[in-house]
Amino acid sequence: MFKSVLIANRGEIACRIARTARRMGLNIVAVYSAADKDALHVRAADVAYPIGPAPAAESYLKIEKIINAAKASGAEAIHPGYGFLAENARFAEACVRAGIAFVGPPPTAIRLLGEKNRAKTLMAKAGVPVVPGYHGNDQRPATLKREADRLGYPVLIKAAAGGGGKGMRRVDRARDFLPALESAKREAEAAFGAGMMLVEKCIERPRHIEVQIIADQHGNVAHLFERDCSLQRRHQKVIEEAPAPGISADFRRRLCDAAVTAARAAHYVGAGTVEFIVDVANGIEAATFAFMEVNTRLQVEHPVTEFVTGQDLVEWQLRIAAGERLPRRQDKLALSGHAIEVRLYAEDPARGFMPQAGRLDRLRLPATRGPVRVDTGVAEGNTVTVHYDPMIAKLIAHGADRTAALAALSKALAQTEVAGIATNLGFLTALVEHPAFVGAELDTGLIGRLGDEIARLSASARDRLLACGVIASLLGGGETAGQAAGDPYSPWAERNGWTLTGPRRDALALTVAGAPVPAHILYRGAGRFAVELGGRPIELVDCWREGDRFTATVDGRPVEARVFDAGGDTVAVSAGRSVAFHRRSVAEEGGDERGASGAITAPMPGKIVAVAVKKGTLVKRGDPMIVLEAMKMEQTLAAPRDGRVAAVACRPGELVVEGALLAAIDGA
Ligand code: ADP
Ligand code: ADP
Ligand code: MG
Repeated sequence: MFKSVLIANRGEIACRIARTARRMGLNIVAVYSAADKDALHVRAADVAYPIGPAPAAESYLKIEKIINAAKASGAEAIHPGYGFLAENARFAEACVRAGIAFVGPPPTAIRLLGEKNRAKTLMAKAGVPVVPGYHGNDQRPATLKREADRLGYPVLIKAAAGGGGKGMRRVDRARDFLPALESAKREAEAAFGAGMMLVEKCIERPRHIEVQIIADQHGNVAHLFERDCSLQRRHQKVIEEAPAPGISADFRRRLCDAAVTAARAAHYVGAGTVEFIVDVANGIEAATFAFMEVNTRLQVEHPVTEFVTGQDLVEWQLRIAAGERLPRRQDKLALSGHAIEVRLYAEDPARGFMPQAGRLDRLRLPATRGPVRVDTGVAEGNTVTVHYDPMIAKLIAHGADRTAALAALSKALAQTEVAGIATNLGFLTALVEHPAFVGAELDTGLIGRLGDEIARLSASARDRLLACGVIASLLGGGETAGQAAGDPYSPWAERNGWTLTGPRRDALALTVAGAPVPAHILYRGAGRFAVELGGRPIELVDCWREGDRFTATVDGRPVEARVFDAGGDTVAVSAGRSVAFHRRSVAEEGGDERGASGAITAPMPGKIVAVAVKKGTLVKRGDPMIVLEAMKMEQTLAAPRDGRVAAVACRPGELVVEGALLAAIDGA
């Protein structure tokens, strides 16, 4: 075994790899960008090397700098984690050249499988079923369109070099094909530096089921069963679990055998994932599967496999890279129980899941203990930057069966508190509580179909929590409630709540996540209030505050929340949800007209990808004007109203700061 390993990554995966390396007694070498000098993954290491400025292209993606750090530190192996250089064949080659073991497959396998079109051709030859489609070299738009017409719509356009759902577009009608191709290609070129595309038949009701494979340098291949990653939003995984609910033992065997065949066909070495798409249009009993791609690295969702097999995949990876044989034979591997993972992201479900950057004023995560595991790379007070993936943590729960795993997961979500930055915590909570998920009615379209319902559920849960926050801050000693100081039964509540003419109703100007929310408080007497939000009254009785703890019965249900100040806002958190708000000042009152003024500003820092208008263009409200790439996604900024473009203040390729004026529209 090696004595030292360099981890060429950051965040939760770097911390996770360090944990195993530490247990195995290896010396741990970290690398870090200027944005990460105090990051957890640096603290988890024995020694750390700076590799450049914050942008990944200038640090975590710089092969030479990482190889130099490995040489300087004397590291015998490099673990690339996932993302960044993990699937970069040139990086694997550079390691080999420098005499350092690359913890991953040989460069030839990375190259072969990294291109979805070559991989599909290979798998079809090896007898693994593949999705019907065109994976050829003729990349003329007319050819791709003809192939799409032949397959029949809907089709999926994919980037051959793609990953993380980037460069992928579903096309439902022939006339939408060419614009979708252009946009997918542009996204692929920006993300992967390669614009090779393929076209596939779009499976209407698919489940994503993948198989963990692992192979040593001596020709032994094993699988560690499957994971179901069907809960996706825009082709990105949100919740993953193992084993896949509802599949038969026979289906599992055929699927896992196909994955092993795929690994052998590619002369695979190391840990990898063979992804399949499973057509469940006629139910899971009649399902068929087809090969999608191989991810030649450790997967984000590997912890669910570790839970149900009791194995440490990073240890397996390191042993294999050191030339050892597979730590266990196939017949010694078995499934035990069920595990589910959710990905907690800094993103705002209320604003199209836009990635968020900012300070984690509060971050309380459950401890890794018993059936719960939490993998994170950030701590309270850290900043989520625009430069990297906005994942905050993964919460993984294990149980004897799916119901037990779900119960443990719900509890873990309820113990999670995040403030300072919008997250998908409330969305995840609503999702894991939803009957469709509880009933394991999985397919990749589920989140899309539930979107509105979940958003509605989340919104009403948020409103109830907001009402708690408002009343708690009133009781906690706001400007009018100083005397009340935590005692809802004080005479204050009576005196102010009731006048001779009846109950009093106070208007309150709240700002929630930057948007004004008009609210009213109705004083109903001793410890009883109603908070009107959007005209709907939320009834609170038995309100009680002690320190940052607030309890009440809200619309008939008992609620326990914590309410505190963070980052200039009042924050209320309860049962896996949080809401931050403040009372608007007079200055803010007049300032909410920006949208209608015709100014298009950058909602977050990012890179301008395309500008669809010029000075003088006539636009209608909702017309796409500017495409901004920020964090993971392309975002289209639309005209806030009808009018004529008075000015365009940005160019494609330009980096812009949050709030920068990009264009302006004059009244029509
Ligand atoms: P999984 O989640 O199944 O491991 P994903 O495709 O979602 O696989 O990718 C995992 C992580 O790696 C994500 O954070 C994604 O942004 C990143 N990633 C995947 N492919 C690439 C790539 N080619 N270049 C950069 N980052 C990538
Ligand atoms: P990536 O490299 O971005 O992970 P994949 O080829 O693995 O790309 O596809 C990502 C996701 O897109 C899958 O998990 C699945 O939900 C969806 N998808 C892929 N191919 C198809 C298809 N042919 N029909 C329907 N959905 C698909
Ligand atoms: Mg994939």
